[in-house]
Amino acid sequence: MKEMQCLRCGEAMQFLVKESIQLGKTGWLLGDIPNLLAGALEVDIFVCPSCHKLEFYAASGEDATDGDVPTKVCPACGTVHDFDYPRCPKCKFEY
Ligand SMILES: [Zn+2]
Ligand SMILES: [Zn+2]
Repeated sequence: MKEMQCLRCGEAMQFLVKESIQLGKTGWLLGDIPNLLAGALEVDIFVCPSCHKLEFYAASGEDATDGDVPTKVCPACGTVHDFDYPRCPKCKFEY
């Protein structure tokens, strides 16, 4: 896992916990991430030891994928596709 740095003070973030968030019930938490997925979202939560800022990252899903090809999930429609597609093959969402 690569090292995360605090956006506020540059301190190395410490991994805190992996959480499963039920979308639709916790809009206060992910309000700035539009409709990422229906259902639960796995997030890695990091904390800054210096200013105690919390950062949430969508879990990489390394233990869920089975092939060599890295995949990503379309934030618009939830389709899983190859990581290097410039846009979603299903809904044409541009990253
Ligand atoms: Zn900090
Ligand atoms: Zn899509």
